[in-house]
Amino acid sequence: MKNTGICPKCNGNDILKVPGKSGAYGSGNNIQVGLTIFSAVLVDRYVCCSCGYSEEWINKEDIETLKDRF
Ligand SMILES: [Zn+2]
Repeated sequence: MKNTGICPKCNGNDILKVPGKSGAYGSGNNIQVGLTIFSAVLVDRYVCCSCGYSEEWINKEDIETLKDRF
């Protein structure tokens, strides 16, 4: 969906990108990998406005961080 811009469930093309962010106390869409908000891996979410299906993506650079942590 991120690459095609098309929903795999309903073939809709009204895709919304919700960028990941890191706020206080782990708010926002992210994965905590440490004790501070600076050590959170951000998760971008793609939402289909037609059927509500959503997909989550993590930056490639952050994959290594996750591998170290989990
Ligand atoms: Zn859809």
